[in-house]
Amino acid sequence: MAQCINCSNYTLRDHPGGSADERSRAAAKQMAASGLGRCTLGPSYRFPSPTHERKCPSFSQAPTTVIERRVAWLATRGQATTTTESNT
Ligand code: SF4
Repeated sequence: MAQCINCSNYTLRDHPGGSADERSRAAAKQMAASGLGRCTLGPSYRFPSPTHERKCPSFSQAPTTVIERRVAWLATRGQATTTTESNT
């Protein structure tokens, strides 16, 4: 099973799309502040949970340092995060 928090396609940053309009950027910022990020492969209006375990054929392992920063960010949002060892 995969978790978005461990995936290189996930982002808790501002809207990654260069063509995003101001409203999309503002929404992405607000959602990130709530601890929800975006899958850069999915539609801009979807904010999948970072820790929900899912079967995802597009999962791509993110670097450990990136995952650690995400966990730290979520902790500042009051969210304890448990990441799974395996994402297969
Ligand atoms: S590719 Fe799959 S696991 Fe990765 S962020 Fe998107 S939905 Fe989550």
